[in-house]
Amino acid sequence: MGAASHAEKPVAGLPAAPVKEALEGRRALFLDRDGTLIRDVGYPRFPCQVELIHGAATAVATIAAAGFLPVLVSNQSGVGRAVVSEAQLRSVHESMAAKLGAHGVSLAAAYYCPHAPWDGCSCRKPMPGLLLKAANELGIDLACSIMVGDKPTDVEAGRAAGCHAVLLSHGGAVRGACASPDLIAESWMEVVEWVLRQPWNRK
Ligand SMILES: [Mg+2]
Ligand SMILES: [Zn+2]
Repeated sequence: MGAASHAEKPVAGLPAAPVKEALEGRRALFLDRDGTLIRDVGYPRFPCQVELIHGAATAVATIAAAGFLPVLVSNQSGVGRAVVSEAQLRSVHESMAAKLGAHGVSLAAAYYCPHAPWDGCSCRKPMPGLLLKAANELGIDLACSIMVGDKPTDVEAGRAAGCHAVLLSHGGAVRGACASPDLIAESWMEVVEWVLRQPWNRK
């Protein structure tokens, strides 16, 4: 019934995917949103609630300059729970994009899972659906790509998609069981230093 047809429905109005041919074989820096790029305030609905995490924009700019496409992959169950409207999701997205843009960062694409946990979709992390969709649409080489997020579910999604995975702990304790990440980083600076050191990070 409804759940199945709703599962792959895109959120209207988000940036269209770039032309696949131009990006064939590219590496991605998959990015979680809340607690990774912007402060996690719980179902943000207004642009004024958007605050970049310290060091995030500079880090993403540096990693992008090393040849990784920044791609947002975010669970936003607030939509499925009817706490956040699609228009509000868009306005928060646009505010974040503008703030990142001020630091020279532009996301290559943004993929949101709008479903509630009980919808049983294949795109809510820890499922890898968003990353697999991005890989298919953008021509991304998953084995050379990285998922960065602040939750074990981000690491699990990255692993399930065949990517390298970094858990950004911000120095706090990590809650929950975790498919082992390649790195547990306390700061975005640590993530950058690690990425630039990796043997698979060669152009
Ligand atoms: Mg998060
Ligand atoms: Zn979903």
